[in-house]
Amino acid sequence: MKIINPATETVIKEITEDTSQTIQEKFELLTNGQKAWAKTNVTDRIAAIQHFCDLLEEHKDELAATLTSEMGKPLQQSYNELNGARDRIKYFIDNSEKYLAEEWVTTEGATKEKIVYEPLGVIANISAWNYPFLVGVNVFIPALIGGNAVFYKPSEYATLTGQHIQALLYKAGVPENCFQTAIGHGNVGEQLLLLPLNGYFFTGSYRTGKYIAEKVAGKMVPCQLELGGKDPLYVMDDVEHIEKAAADALEGVVYNSGQSCCAVERIYVQEKVYDAFVNAYVEECKKMRIGDPLDKSTDIGPLSRKEQQAFLSAQVDDAVILGAKVLCGGRIPAGKGYYFEPTVLVNVNHQMKVMTEESFGPVVGIQKVSDDAEAIQLMQDTVYGLTASVYSKSFERAEAVMQQMNTGTVYWNCCDRVSGTLPWSGRKNSGFGATLSYQGIRAFVQPKAYHIRG
Ligand code: NAD
Repeated sequence: MKIINPATETVIKEITEDTSQTIQEKFELLTNGQKAWAKTNVTDRIAAIQHFCDLLEEHKDELAATLTSEMGKPLQQSYNELNGARDRIKYFIDNSEKYLAEEWVTTEGATKEKIVYEPLGVIANISAWNYPFLVGVNVFIPALIGGNAVFYKPSEYATLTGQHIQALLYKAGVPENCFQTAIGHGNVGEQLLLLPLNGYFFTGSYRTGKYIAEKVAGKMVPCQLELGGKDPLYVMDDVEHIEKAAADALEGVVYNSGQSCCAVERIYVQEKVYDAFVNAYVEECKKMRIGDPLDKSTDIGPLSRKEQQAFLSAQVDDAVILGAKVLCGGRIPAGKGYYFEPTVLVNVNHQMKVMTEESFGPVVGIQKVSDDAEAIQLMQDTVYGLTASVYSKSFERAEAVMQQMNTGTVYWNCCDRVSGTLPWSGRKNSGFGATLSYQGIRAFVQPKAYHIRG
């Protein structure tokens, strides 16, 4: 398998993919290892994870450089991702003992009752490339702390990062027979679906997620899917700081070249403030520096995958044919690298793919709306349900909109944000099940109810 730098299109490294035989060997290793790991004390497992967290800090320069070179995010954003991952790990370190401890619920009377949380067993963590540290730690950290063994499938676009993660977990004291990587493309991920694993935790596209859920349904084990989105941001006419709202929205659209599950993908603005918002957005957008992700002054690096350039071009062309106007960007810059210009489209509507299909790039359509009712109708006109954001002076007014959103997350005066202390979950085609928060600790254990008489 060739690892290609998306900024230069050069091969960084060639590595060998797993085969069905090596996958089977790793599975047997994990099956044996998990039993011993589950018997260790949770405080010892947490100590290993604390050590891993420290190693992420110690090796951050090498980790950030690898991440940037294999998937193209600007170097500072790679550092931000590592810091974010450490914050999430800290939440799990500080809270897991509390949420994994046995709970006495009835201590009086003839029958005493308690709940004990037991690990699931050997679980699959099939992961995406856009934030490999963040989406990885959402799963493998609480899974390991909970006493599970993890079969981790890093994306083929973040394989070197996956290998770093494995090496640092081992160095931190996680036994090799509790954490193994499945290296390769989707066909290697497919091998994990054939194994009798005890849970499937997937982050990636709707298409693959649906396929996996259908494929593993008969196993009768937990399956969680964190999938894509088409997340809306709505600017009300009472918004206090229009420039701030525009700057936030732009960051939400272009951060990580727009390759975030919760990126702002479409914007609705009330007519009274529409011109001011569009002007502020376009002015800021034109200042974005697109270029070498290793250069500190770069705001937007390349896309991670070459085919995404043609996909975004097709979305822009489709919108223009149907009457949209490009105010900024819209093209693939000349030269090496999988770049795409930050793009703003207006005169858009929901007949256009750019307003309904996940873009996963630095592209946005801005649509004028007359009132909250129209905004709610358009925001909800989607097959996805990950996040929705409202900018307004009035919390009451924003809350009335947020309550109407069939999404796992809503934001008031912020966007494109994930917190380790809140559950992260999608609805509809954005998936099901939650990671992060105490719910993301309990997702990797199963309750056993004890009825104790005598
Ligand atoms: P993808 O579906 O192409 O791949 C995800 C993983 O699945 C990869 O490791 C891949 O090798 C593996 N895979 C592919 N085919 C498989 C198969 N048949 N069986 C088993 N495994 C298989 O997704 P991607 O391009 O890596 O990620 C981008 C998508 O992920 C976007 O839609 C984005 O919105 C979404 N995402 C969601 C979240 C979230 O938290 N909701 C977070 C990050 C990314």
